[in-house]
Amino acid sequence: MNYIYNFSAGPSMLPISVMKKAHQDFRNWCNLGSSILEISHRSKEFLELQKNSKNDLRELLNIPNNYEILFCHGGARGQFSAIPMNLSEKNSQVDYIYSGYWSKKAAEEAQKYCKTNIIHVLQEIDNIKYVLPYHKWNINLNSDYIHYCPNETIEGIAIYEEPIFKNKNIIGDFSSTLLSRVIDISKYSLIYASAQKNIGASGLTIIIVKKELLKKSKKFTPSILDYNIMYNYDSLFNTPTNFSWYLSSLIFKWLKKIGGIQKIEEINQEKSKLLYQVIDSSNFYKNFVHKKNRSQMNVVFQLKNKFLDNLFVKEAQLNNLYALKNHKIAGGIRASIYNSMPLAGIKKLVKFMLYFKKKYSSL
Ligand SMILES: *Cc1c(COP(=O)(O)O)cnc(C)c1O
Repeated sequence: MNYIYNFSAGPSMLPISVMKKAHQDFRNWCNLGSSILEISHRSKEFLELQKNSKNDLRELLNIPNNYEILFCHGGARGQFSAIPMNLSEKNSQVDYIYSGYWSKKAAEEAQKYCKTNIIHVLQEIDNIKYVLPYHKWNINLNSDYIHYCPNETIEGIAIYEEPIFKNKNIIGDFSSTLLSRVIDISKYSLIYASAQKNIGASGLTIIIVKKELLKKSKKFTPSILDYNIMYNYDSLFNTPTNFSWYLSSLIFKWLKKIGGIQKIEEINQEKSKLLYQVIDSSNFYKNFVHKKNRSQMNVVFQLKNKFLDNLFVKEAQLNNLYALKNHKIAGGIRASIYNSMPLAGIKKLVKFMLYFKKKYSSL
């Protein structure tokens, strides 16, 4: 089998050691002679997994005791609906920060349920995009919450500042952020992430929410999207995404072994720096995001000649560098380099980029 480096934006690659452990466990989990896919979520073994995974995540992210962790279904899109249903009051308004594709999609969903103020924060100078600093965000005093996305996965645009808004509920779509860098949970009221970027396999959605918010939801809220119900059942209201949950429990252990979030953040910084250096070192590759908003998770770039895009993706694949084509709405190239992408994969991509530039720079 050829070993490939998979730069897919999600589902994305998983650490080899985690995959090996899952393979080993597959037909005989916890010595039960059975796989986790076949075991009740009410079994003592699963309840043990539930407890340990919560503790591990709490430890990794330093989650304060007044926050609850929920393991839900439905991906980030499920949360786009759950958030306004659970956290907006009747006749109320909510603020949605628009910085790219995913934050816009979240706002469009919220519009179905409440008055949604869409606040544009993306600016451009000399073709370079940047996000306005917080003090320039046009926040409404009366809104129930502010929703934003600290890493726009498609455009490769990130917001690294921690929120500064006083007495405001800050909600964050951390789908391509969670576990990649240190964050101060106490700055947020609720953050959520679908698992298929940094946390494991798709299906599972992790929510970290301040307990005091777990009370009111709109009457019509489907029970599986109701935070209070999920909390009362400790995320076992209905059958959970057991395999995905199990995989993320392995990811948490793997991260702890590496040295935790601080360590993985250092590695992630080093990885993205290597790629941006190659991009900035010539006119052959171009990135149009201001340095302070460049994503460490999704490195997006264009080739000097866009007719070379397909050739780049094809030749890269022949070199075992997989899935480098960006989403069609953005075009160009995207290297998604989540926690599981090893430094060796980045070095191989850097080498390929230099080779490709040399070969085609006259075109
Ligand atoms: C991937 C992604 C989503 C969509 O996640 P689903 O689980 O497919 O609903 C939403 N927001 C961000 C920031 C993402 O990266």
